[in-house]
This record gives sequence, structure tokens and C-alpha cells, in this order.
Amino acid sequence: MNTANQAETPADLLLRHGRVITMDPGRRILVDGAIAVRDGRVVAVGPDREVAPASEATETRDLGGALVHPGLIDAHVHAGSSELSRGLAPKDHADYGAVDDWLFAFRRPETDYLGALLSCMEMVRNGTTAYSDTGGSFFLEETVRAIETVGMRGMPGHVALDFNPDVPGRNTSSGAMSEEEGEMLRGSTGECVSRLEEQMVRYPFRSGGRVRGAATLYGCMRCSDTLLRQASSLAEEHGAPMIMHQSWDPEEIEISEALYGCRPIQHLADIGVLGENLTLVHMNHLDRAEVELVAESGTRIVHCPAASLRRGMGAIRKGAFPEMLGMGVPVALGSDGYSGRRDVLRQAYLAAVGFREFRGELPVLTGETVLEMATLHGARALGLEEVGSIEVGKRADLVVHTLSRPEAHPRFQDPVDSLVYFRGSSTVDTVYVDGEAILDRGRFTRFDAETAYGMIDAAASEFEAGVGASIYSVWPLVD
Ligand SMILES: [Zn+2]
Repeated sequence: MNTANQAETPADLLLRHGRVITMDPGRRILVDGAIAVRDGRVVAVGPDREVAPASEATETRDLGGALVHPGLIDAHVHAGSSELSRGLAPKDHADYGAVDDWLFAFRRPETDYLGALLSCMEMVRNGTTAYSDTGGSFFLEETVRAIETVGMRGMPGHVALDFNPDVPGRNTSSGAMSEEEGEMLRGSTGECVSRLEEQMVRYPFRSGGRVRGAATLYGCMRCSDTLLRQASSLAEEHGAPMIMHQSWDPEEIEISEALYGCRPIQHLADIGVLGENLTLVHMNHLDRAEVELVAESGTRIVHCPAASLRRGMGAIRKGAFPEMLGMGVPVALGSDGYSGRRDVLRQAYLAAVGFREFRGELPVLTGETVLEMATLHGARALGLEEVGSIEVGKRADLVVHTLSRPEAHPRFQDPVDSLVYFRGSSTVDTVYVDGEAILDRGRFTRFDAETAYGMIDAAASEFEAGVGASIYSVWPLVD
């Protein structure tokens, strides 16, 4: 048994008779396991016959053989107003720039709150207990309010990009961004640094709080070297990670070679930014030398398969994620923005099946590996070492699945195979953060979900009016 001490352990919560994927160093799966929680942390985890008699708990729950695993970590999500535009302008057809135009005009504190609320609700419903953005908030306190409403862990950030003055064309290449919208996004280098410092001071990373500030940047050749260097120093100073997009599209490589005479990852190394405190999101287009630089420097990666698949960006076709994992690089998973669902288990499934289909090999990434990416690697990528597995001393971020769904049967399956290929997030039932049930048997506990849906839909209907019927649906909408 794995316990804090051998005497009877007082606990606030005792979960009994779970089928527990611990993700501990031995990767134990407890067939009839129990978890005791006190003051938000796991104080005992092991076979039920050992843990239960040794625990004195205020609340005990019998899980009746249900699957339990650590809270999942979505290492890249844009939680904000843009969530309210989902499905209103079908992005298989619409021009992204035009969609962005409507979006920027529409953005207000309330829409940032409601969009982030929708994101956080979906993440928790899908078993995610912690997420990080690369800085998509115009109204950071509204994103924080949404995270706190739901009760999960979040690392939001102010929009921070100053547009690399060496790359004027890059400033608008993501779409038809007007001058006005460019101005809305753009900050001077000094303003961006102040925003980053303010969020790290206001939400200290090392506080243990659920909301934490990091050095979150847009990246992708849209930030100046000065901003990157200063953000890196600030992150070190505040004990927080630096997180940004990188190498999403091949254009970044062309720009870097023209400007600096080398590929982007070499340039990040040259300016002293690459290293153990840096997390780079996407990383679809790397050559062998860049892969080696990443591995040698201790840089962490976030792979977002759905985002790339939806737009054909090359994460599976070009990505070296299996090789980087083989070299010991932490590779987390992220749902990103336009990809569709905020669902780490969907990303895990796509990572597992995508590489084997494209490469014509089996298994490339196994179910076990993608589950490590969704938990332990996510924790490392975000600098959240106190989560990612169910072990004594770690935060009690736990996901319990229901048995009352067809996907959960037959009951006696390999739990990892069942989770990655059959259940996904469809059977998520109860989600604990710090031992608090923020989703309890399918219901959010801190707020009324139906009221939230009403507010979200009312705000989105304004956006719908702005978008106009012409691209609302490709097929005719008939009254
Ligand atoms: Zn993104």
C-alpha cells in the first residue's frame, strides 16, 4: 500500500472500489482500488482492502467498479469570445479572415466570460481538469471569472503580440485582418511585457492556486525577438513557464531563413529562449536538426492533432512527435481553437491512430503513450508537477467514469484500450479538482448549467445576426 503513514489516515473523501489507472511511476492499474483525499491532496491510494480499513473518512463513495484516472490536461485551448462563433460560420467554407472580422467587432467583457465559460464547461465535461492558453484574452479577469465559476485549473493570458517589425507581411497573413483589428491585437513591446508581468504578479504561478499566470505569447513569427527575450526572463523570474505557438505552417520556416539565415528553432536557440522553461505549441514542421535542438534543450511540446487535421496543416504528415517522444521530449496534447471539441481524449485517439495510418506502421504511438501525453506530459508541459498522476502528495484531480453507458461494457476490458479507443470522454461522470467534485454525476456543482447555456446562446445570437444568413449555412435553412 502507498500511504502517507501507517496509522489510520483521516480523510475528507474516500473513493472505494474504483478501477484506477494511477499513472504512477510503475503505471499500476488497481483492479479494486481506493483513493483517500485530505486537504485537496491524495493521502492514500492502493488496493481497497488495504486503503479503506486504514482510512477514517468524512465522506465515502462506492464507485462500484467504475474507471478512475487522473484529471486530463489540455495544454492548448483558446477560451474566449471566439467560442460563441462555433458552427455559426461553417469554417469548411467561410474565409477565416471574414470570420475573424466579425469576431473582433463582437468581442466584449461579457462575451469573453461566456465564451470561456463554455470552453471550461466542455473541458470539465470531457474530463479535463487543467488547461493553458497562449494568451487569447482581451479581458483577462473575465476569463479568470469563468475558470473560477467552473472550478477547474487554468492558465489564461492577455493577448501579447507586438508583431515582429522585421516581418510586416506576417502581421496579416492569418487572414484578412483589417488595420482596426490589427490595432486591437497589437501592443507595443513594452505594453506586452507589462501585461505578462501583471498577470504573473496577479496570479502567481507558485501559489498553488487554480488560476495561474504564465508568460503566454502568440509566437509564430509574430513577436519581436526583444519581446521573446523579455518574456523568457520574466517567466524565469516568476517561476512560471513560457508558452507560445511555433512552427504551425511552412511559411514560418521561409521567413526565418530569409531573415535570420536559419530555421525557427535554431533562431530561438540563438536568442537564448529555447530551454526547459519553454513550451512550444504545434511544432508541425521541424527538420532533424530542430528535433535534436528541442531534445537537447529540454523544451516541451504540445501536439494538437485535431487543429491540424481540420485544416490540413501537416501535424501527422510532417510531424516528428513519435520521434521526439522516443528522445524523451515531453509531448502534451491540446484541443486548440477551430479544431472542434475541447476534448483531450479525442486528441489522444487522433494521435494514436493518425500516425499509423499515414506511415503504414503499427503501433507508432500506443494507447499507453497517448494517455501519458494526456496526463503526465501535459503536467510537465505546463509546469504543474503536482498533478498528472494519482499518487500520495499529489493534488486530488480525479475523473470517474460511469458504467451506465454502452461504451463502458463489457466491464472487464483493458482499461487503457477501453478509454482511448472505445469510451473516450463519453462516459465521464464525476470530476474532482483538489478533491472537490466540480462535476458530480454529470451535473456542475458550482453554478446552474441551464442558466449558463441560456446566457451563452443569447450572446451568440448577436453574433449570429452579425454574421448574416449568407454563410450561416451552406444548405438552405427553411422556416
Ligand atoms: Zn492556438
